[in-house]
Amino acid sequence: MNKKVYQLYCEICNWKRVTDGKAEDVKDLHELTLSPVPGGVPKLEGGKIVDRPSSKRQRQFRCPNCGRTVQAKVVQNPQAKIDAYREDLRRQELAKKWYDQDESFRQKYEAIKQSYSDEEDDDE
Ligand SMILES: [Zn+2]
Repeated sequence: MNKKVYQLYCEICNWKRVTDGKAEDVKDLHELTLSPVPGGVPKLEGGKIVDRPSSKRQRQFRCPNCGRTVQAKVVQNPQAKIDAYREDLRRQELAKKWYDQDESFRQKYEAIKQSYSDEEDDDE
């Protein structure tokens, strides 16, 4: 299972912290108290008034450097990014190996590379 990871980043002074949102991780920061966002006007359902559920807001903190409000942003699946990066590296190495060892691969690669540079020339 992947853990949820949050990033706190202050655009004003570039202060940054990556946290899993646990209390010990952010205990030195001032968290802003936020009220939930109302879900909207209550609706009538079968003669009864039903409240719409309110939604929680993303947690906000005060930047310890400059005092501005910093919003916690979810870092989407950090492990997937690392995996994708590794897979990319692996493919590059594989391609390099094929390029060095396989004559037909080298010819195809050069042909593709040539077609790309031809397109670039057309733009000018
Ligand atoms: Zn700041």
